[in-house]
Amino acid sequence: MIDAHIHADTRPYEDFKMMAVAGIKAAISCAHDPLKMSTSAVVLDHIHRIMNNDVKRAAKNGLKLYNAVGLHPRSISPDFEVVLTQLPSLLENENVVALGEIGLETASSPERDVFKKQLVLAQEIKKKVIIHTPRSNKREITKITLSMIDENIDPSLVQIDHVDNSIIDLLVEFEGMRGITVQPQKMTPQEAVRLLEEYGTQKFVLDSDMSSSPSDPLSVPKTVHEMRLAGFEDADIKRVSEENVSRFYGI
Ligand SMILES: [Zn+2]
Repeated sequence: MIDAHIHADTRPYEDFKMMAVAGIKAAISCAHDPLKMSTSAVVLDHIHRIMNNDVKRAAKNGLKLYNAVGLHPRSISPDFEVVLTQLPSLLENENVVALGEIGLETASSPERDVFKKQLVLAQEIKKKVIIHTPRSNKREITKITLSMIDENIDPSLVQIDHVDNSIIDLLVEFEGMRGITVQPQKMTPQEAVRLLEEYGTQKFVLDSDMSSSPSDPLSVPKTVHEMRLAGFEDADIKRVSEENVSRFYGI
């Protein structure tokens, strides 16, 4: 199994062992907003941490971490241009499999500006992108997000994340990957199974998005367990819990 979206910097050492014991081989640890991000130096130190310290902490427990790096909409420091300038070289690192997580939280004009610049960069260098959809005003913000994707990047480079019943109908024709975040207060394993029963496993990956918010490091294995109980074929289970991630990111 591969967890397609986590925030390893917010989690204790022991979580990585628990995940490995449960059969998770790898995860993608994404840049986000763990601190106030008052300057670009804080953002870059955060990115340095997820690319180095956390990769080592997880490896010691038998869990391989890949990274997604970029400017989260809640991490836009006043001097964000400094981070944007550094991004191309950070994205060259072989362990960095995507630009992310990026996206819109409130769709303010600075957020749109930073989001657009990162989409254009990803298109230029043909890098995969992990895109956040927010909890509040989710449907309206997702519509704006999708129109900006349409205008700036080949959708087949995009994983749009935190997909749930409130936005799935907007994504029926979407060519990229769709992430289902199984997380307390967001979506249960049973709800994820119902979504997969209705829409199939072809274009979905599973993730825990584990962070300092209520989270479950075992979201992916618990969803796999529920899929088995619901009678899914082994091939479908493997596709959504591992193969789609490994094929999409080349890992
Ligand atoms: Zn996240």
